[in-house]
Amino acid sequence: MFAKVIIDQDAKALDRVFEYIVPMDMSVGVGERVMVPFGARVLQGFIVGLEETCLYDESKLKPISSKIENFSVIKEEMLSLMFFMAEKLHLKLASVLRLFLPSEMRTDKVRELLAKTVCLSENFEMPSKRASKQIEIVEFLKANGEQKLSELSDKFSYSTISTMVKNGVLQIGEQQILRSPSFDRIKSDKKALTPLQQRAVDTISENKTYLLHGVTGSGKTEVYMNLIERQLSLGKTALMLVPEISLTPQVLASFKARFGDDVALIHSGLSAGERFDEWKRIFFGQAKVVVGARSAIFSPIENLGIIIIDEEHEQSYVSESNPRYDTHMIAEFRRKYNNCALVLGSATPSIESYAKAIDGEYSLVEMPVRVNGMEMPKIMVVDMLMEMRQGNNQIFSIPLYYELQDIIRDKKQAMIFINRRGFSSFQRCRECGYVAKCTDCDVSLVYHRFEDRLKCHYCGKRFKALDICPSCGSRDIKQGAIGTERVVEELHKLFPDVRVLRMDNDTTSKKNGHREILNEFRNTKPSILVGTQMIAKGHDFEDVLLVGIVDADQSLYQSDYRSIERTFQLITQVSGRAGRSSKQGKVILQTYSPRHFVYRFATNYDYKGFFKKEVNLRKVTNFPPYARIIRLLFTHESEKLVAEECKVCYNKIKQIKESYVDEFVYLDVMKAPLNKIKNKFRYQIMMRVKLEKADEIEKKIFESIDEKCKSSVFFEINPNNLS
Ligand code: ADP
Ligand code: ZN
Ligand code: ZN
Repeated sequence: MFAKVIIDQDAKALDRVFEYIVPMDMSVGVGERVMVPFGARVLQGFIVGLEETCLYDESKLKPISSKIENFSVIKEEMLSLMFFMAEKLHLKLASVLRLFLPSEMRTDKVRELLAKTVCLSENFEMPSKRASKQIEIVEFLKANGEQKLSELSDKFSYSTISTMVKNGVLQIGEQQILRSPSFDRIKSDKKALTPLQQRAVDTISENKTYLLHGVTGSGKTEVYMNLIERQLSLGKTALMLVPEISLTPQVLASFKARFGDDVALIHSGLSAGERFDEWKRIFFGQAKVVVGARSAIFSPIENLGIIIIDEEHEQSYVSESNPRYDTHMIAEFRRKYNNCALVLGSATPSIESYAKAIDGEYSLVEMPVRVNGMEMPKIMVVDMLMEMRQGNNQIFSIPLYYELQDIIRDKKQAMIFINRRGFSSFQRCRECGYVAKCTDCDVSLVYHRFEDRLKCHYCGKRFKALDICPSCGSRDIKQGAIGTERVVEELHKLFPDVRVLRMDNDTTSKKNGHREILNEFRNTKPSILVGTQMIAKGHDFEDVLLVGIVDADQSLYQSDYRSIERTFQLITQVSGRAGRSSKQGKVILQTYSPRHFVYRFATNYDYKGFFKKEVNLRKVTNFPPYARIIRLLFTHESEKLVAEECKVCYNKIKQIKESYVDEFVYLDVMKAPLNKIKNKFRYQIMMRVKLEKADEIEKKIFESIDEKCKSSVFFEINPNNLS
């Protein structure tokens, strides 16, 4: 027997299937991990196929050295997925496989957790009748079998147990226990479905892809849970993805409450051990429902009855680091493989997904009103230029200030959204224009007042804050655009007695940071929660009646084609946090461009109107979903080298273009907008190609990358981030 093996090394030269002899006395299966000789070394590999004959010269083949486990770590579905991804996304086989296993498994860093157990010894002597406690223990173990020592000693005295161990009546053993992630325990509160929810649950039953377009507060979570319950009752399993930032303690708790030990949770707050153990529970079929962030799409769960992607428009579903992948594509593969339904849910579907629903590729299911019939919050647009003309140079407009006062008087809650952490986006000298920049990156530094430091948000480096301009000596330092810290400071000044909480990457970096802030917010009234987009999604606080959007234009004028779409989504999502219970909410949206069309549609909650306008723009300007953007990004320490290599590749692509003159909408080579990050220079080739032959062109372009190129080359399709 011959085994086809993929070597677990991230090297282009090893990116193919190698053949090995299976020793006579070894039984192996497809998907198992093995050690194989490779040159002078012995390396880890995966068996991806078994054959009676070999393609290569048998006398030159070597035998497999040993097995790592005695079961297949890569299941059949995942093997097919590996070949699919490698082909479609131009990825190396080994680097795809790595996505499927917890990294702890490959490095052997995590130890199994063992617990001491107690059982009756074989042929033990019955304790004397006078030792009644001992007899009780014997009877208990006879009835209930082996017990964990910690649990048995809760019921009986420890000294009695240890005496019995000494006397040889009891025996101590060991049992592996699985670590499980912590969560808040709440009671399950299953609700009778509204007619709209019921209709959604009834509709979503076939083997296809559904786009569930439900406004914020329409009760999508309850629909998901019902869909999952139905699959469980049919003996199937479920996979539900949620963006990392909306994996709130509330969401985790309600899934645990509803599905108990059937649920496995996968999120970035887990320790390596917890992650590994949850993976095992999924792998061995103990967990029937997986709830997790993006990478959970690779969970080894079998017999799927439904896949759900909540907040499907979220950009975090696209992995931009290597290996790159788009979760939707993987979910679509698994749906077809398992013949099950895929549900994409959102209040603000991505333009791409909604276009597919319009074209009939997805089935559209709509929930256009809130569960309790409550009106959507009223969004008031405030023109900050007018405010300035009227003499208000503050962060908060007059209307926002008054609304905050009302909230505090009524002991209610408000959320203030500003999508920038730190105090101010830069520090600049007013005399000479000097701006503090990172030494390793081509970006200005963000001022953090709490630490009184300038920080680079790209590489994390810290620098002394400016009090004197290093270039001209002036003390007249200007602060840039405001961030979360600055908003908190302002609120402290205006309302010194009110509890103000801040939620951003800086305040949530420690374990359970999120949970602590949210719990404190929930339990304090009045209170104000200031935060970045972390506060925009998923949260359901009944006393939040006001949402303030300090700088709505922030996402609008970024230089990529999705900036308007993203602005619409953010406004809708963050507004959706207000007035979710018994009283209509209010939103104050501050902007310098009050007449931009995105605000007109957003304030009317007119998703369809927005979609029409935006999709038309994309069509006439040839942007996705009507064209494909391909970017090749080259990075290297030497600017000269990276510029040269990029140019060489560009010339090759110009040649390719000659056979596809009509297909190329755009082709250019240039410095990337951020010319340097972490001391690496960045150059890019930007292309837009028409869809009809995009796959073909994409492949040719990919092949045009020189393997011997010294720069790192990133191949990106419709990237979210063009910096
Ligand atoms: P969405 O995700 O669509 O924004 P949620 O799933 O968070 O909405 O639901 C909003 C609120 O409505 C939650 O507090 C939820 O508990 C409640 N809810 C959902 N379905 C029902 C129902 N059928 N009856 C009563 N309340 C419901
Ligand atoms: Zn200066
Ligand atoms: Zn930096």
